[in-house]
Amino acid sequence: MLTTVVFDADETLLDLRPAVTGALVAVHEEMRRLTPAAAGVSLADLESDWGAVFGERSAAPVQEIRRAALARSLARVALDDHLDEVAALFFARRFSLTRPFPDAQPALAALRRQWTLGYATNGNSRTERCGLAGEFTFELYAHDGGLPKKPAPEFYAAVARAAGVPAAQIVYVGDSPEHDVLGPQRVGMAAVWLNRRGLPRPAGLRPDAELSTLAELPDLLTELCGQLNPSGWPAGLGPPR
Ligand SMILES: [Mg+2]
Repeated sequence: MLTTVVFDADETLLDLRPAVTGALVAVHEEMRRLTPAAAGVSLADLESDWGAVFGERSAAPVQEIRRAALARSLARVALDDHLDEVAALFFARRFSLTRPFPDAQPALAALRRQWTLGYATNGNSRTERCGLAGEFTFELYAHDGGLPKKPAPEFYAAVARAAGVPAAQIVYVGDSPEHDVLGPQRVGMAAVWLNRRGLPRPAGLRPDAELSTLAELPDLLTELCGQLNPSGWPAGLGPPR
């Protein structure tokens, strides 16, 4: 039976995009304050620097990728020496602007009555810096203690260890088909694809369920339990505690 719900962080519980955009706007303003040459650099250039570095080093810690991307942006206008202060500005703004989606905390509150709740991310969205402190029984961050990123099987094995239950008792919820559906399913977890933007389902993706908002999650999980236990609940087991 399912007992444990584990959430991805960014773009699942956390509305990261406005925070990153706001932080890049601050960096862009600071660059233009430091040198007139930065007038020739656009916000799109800063975003493309992240994309380029991420493409080269996707397995690296996200803070390192961001720092390398900022270094690339600063190098466009010979501001290389300002990396430390600009990175500090970026991260301060990114964390101060990061908010949970409006549907996140009501869903967590409803689920907490029956489920063990976990948080497992490839990124650096620490719950205490993103408005989610105290919401979870356990939290996992890639690169803590050498933990490889999703979709490495070791990541999901660490999730099960942290939960203290077999993979078959865990349902993973997240926005990434590869990281939050295929990866968990490969190790025997159930997986719910959170498709907030109504994207077409990728070929071959078969989530145990798909939803567009976390508001649907409590009822959906109750249904999912029924589907995964088609003969009904044996005495003493029942839907999630
Ligand atoms: Mg995500």
